[in-house]
Amino acid sequence: MKIYANKLYKAKLSRFKNKKQKDSIYSFNTFLIDERSIKKVKTEIEQEKKVRDIYSDKCVVCNRIWDNDDFKLHHLNGDRSQSITHNLVPMCNRCRRRVNKEANAMLKEYINTHKPPPSGFGFNIKTTKPPNFEY
Ligand SMILES: [Zn+2]
Repeated sequence: MKIYANKLYKAKLSRFKNKKQKDSIYSFNTFLIDERSIKKVKTEIEQEKKVRDIYSDKCVVCNRIWDNDDFKLHHLNGDRSQSITHNLVPMCNRCRRRVNKEANAMLKEYINTHKPPPSGFGFNIKTTKPPNFEY
């Protein structure tokens, strides 16, 4: 569970940093919207079968047996446009939600702890009086 969340987090973080370089006010919320708008490339039936075979038709996190109603292929790097075999693992919906939630929480935490200092840091314009000149 943790390794999948970490993998996803690192991929998300690198996409976030890329965007942030181009747009300095790029935020976590904008990132989530961008991520959702990544166009999904549908996996072919053959490819899905191959990936499920590699993992013996089980959820890679909790080992449950594949159930069509409750399983999807999970994109390791979270990029749904990269539906290539080595980016896919079978994962049940419950585990997918948890992995995603944890990766997003880590990214949010990273962004919150790496905020630039507020402008005017160390110098409060409103309360700092101009120097008194006495003649
Ligand atoms: Zn699972």
